[in-house]
Amino acid sequence: MPNRTTRIIYALIIIGLFGGGAFYWFFKDARLPVGRFEINMAAVRALADGQDGPLPSEIRVERITTFHFPFAAVVTGESFSMIDIPVMTYQVLWPDRSLIIDTGMDQEMAKTMATDFDPTAFARTTKAMSQAEQIVLTHEHIDHIGGLTHNPDLTGLLPALRLTREQMDHPEQSGDARLPKTALEGFTPLAYDKYHALAPGVVLIKAPGHTPGSQMVYVKRADGAEILFLGDIAWNIRSVETTKPRPRFISQFVLGEDRDNVMRELIEIKRISDETPGLMLVAGHDGTVIRKLVEAGILVPGFKAP
Ligand SMILES: [Zn+2]
Repeated sequence: MPNRTTRIIYALIIIGLFGGGAFYWFFKDARLPVGRFEINMAAVRALADGQDGPLPSEIRVERITTFHFPFAAVVTGESFSMIDIPVMTYQVLWPDRSLIIDTGMDQEMAKTMATDFDPTAFARTTKAMSQAEQIVLTHEHIDHIGGLTHNPDLTGLLPALRLTREQMDHPEQSGDARLPKTALEGFTPLAYDKYHALAPGVVLIKAPGHTPGSQMVYVKRADGAEILFLGDIAWNIRSVETTKPRPRFISQFVLGEDRDNVMRELIEIKRISDETPGLMLVAGHDGTVIRKLVEAGILVPGFKAP
């Protein structure tokens, strides 16, 4: 029979092995799942080009607020140093109309998670929503739907709102930004299979995984520039570069994602990115990507009246 010291050593080894294994499983494991998520870029482009009217001339961005997470919570295998998680909204502009991608969140919703809030940026987003021909959400989480939920003219926005069936069917995903029960009475959600031609140059790509209602937004500008808004499939572009999603601890135990599907989507996004020179990827919360696209003139800071 082992003496007390030996038993303690055995216990520590077992705890060490189990703890190390658990840490690996929660924070490091990114083994590839079976199965494939496919994006047919030829089909997406055909839908973007095949609608009547000119392609969009400009895309604008607002930075509403900023969270701060350890990088290791954002991308599997990264360090535990803190990084910015900015919350953005986008305005796609044609000469005579506009479309909003994501609506941010108001100051009340942001205050528990964020260190800053730009009321002017949020006010411009709110105003632009009421002037937009269409409003579309990459998904139904609070930092993307919140600007809609508490909009003082929610009823007036419904004709422009392209909330999908999956987004409407999963109000639990919206947390404190859950739409009031009566708000969507009589509202017909957008239903589509794989791709949806939303406007000249703009195509939705269904991509469940981060949430049931997640979708990407492909935009082709009149000058030929192609931008793919990933929503929160990737919070940071590093997830695409490494094809590593959020760690399992965050993905499955905090967010309740279909992590395997997110990983399949990351693999396909990387593939089309590698095979499509010039395609610009906008991750959900990557301030560095936004800064570079602003410097390159692809995104213009600040919404404007269309
Ligand atoms: Zn988000």
